[in-house]
Amino acid sequence: MKLVVLGSSSSGNCYVLDAGDEALILEAGIRLNEVKKVLGFNIRKVVGCLITHQHGDHAKYIKGMVEMGFTTLALPEVWTAKEVWGSRSVAIAPGKGYKLGNFKIIPFPAFHDVPCVGYMINHPQSGNIMFLTDSYVCEYKFRNLNHVLIECNYADNALYQAIREGRTLPSQRERLLTSHMELETCKEYLKSSDLSQVKNIVLLHLSKDNGDEPLFVSEIERATGKEVYAGKRGLTVNLDRI
Ligand SMILES: [Zn+2]
Ligand SMILES: [Zn+2]
Repeated sequence: MKLVVLGSSSSGNCYVLDAGDEALILEAGIRLNEVKKVLGFNIRKVVGCLITHQHGDHAKYIKGMVEMGFTTLALPEVWTAKEVWGSRSVAIAPGKGYKLGNFKIIPFPAFHDVPCVGYMINHPQSGNIMFLTDSYVCEYKFRNLNHVLIECNYADNALYQAIREGRTLPSQRERLLTSHMELETCKEYLKSSDLSQVKNIVLLHLSKDNGDEPLFVSEIERATGKEVYAGKRGLTVNLDRI
């Protein structure tokens, strides 16, 4: 199983989980042409698309996904906000199980400033993949994780510095506290999780102004002893099961 990152920031999020003969798209915040390119224009192998929430950087192209015939999973609030309806638009309920090709999917509640979910994704090639972005906290612990894709948006130190230097408005901190995941929160969550079977950790949605990519990667590596990547455009990671 190959993870391809097409974008992982407030300027657009999209990931492809490519199992060779089938693929699952995560998020629709990147132009569909770029998604098709990554799939080698073989869109028939796409079994579906998962959307976490309605913000444009995650759902701007949701209508296009549905129009391409991809079964797309999103909260009812997302479908209402985007005014997309039809048999390919599946209104999900957190905690319920869904199957797209050989991918088994369970959405779980995330904590953002609009309704949001994370997804537990299982595929025979990769095992269990946790996918959580745009959530200032994770209240759930999962067992038997093989790969963790988790937001690590900002560091409070970097945020304070950006505010002092006038690059970020002070009000932004108030918003971030209850919408995006801070480095220490991410670290503590991972440290308190059972990572015994985890091979890769991919940090998502790093902030350009309030983040520090090398620092985040090294801090999480140090805290977990795992292979850690910063999710950014062009990154590919092998998510085969160990
Ligand atoms: Zn976002
Ligand atoms: Zn968001």
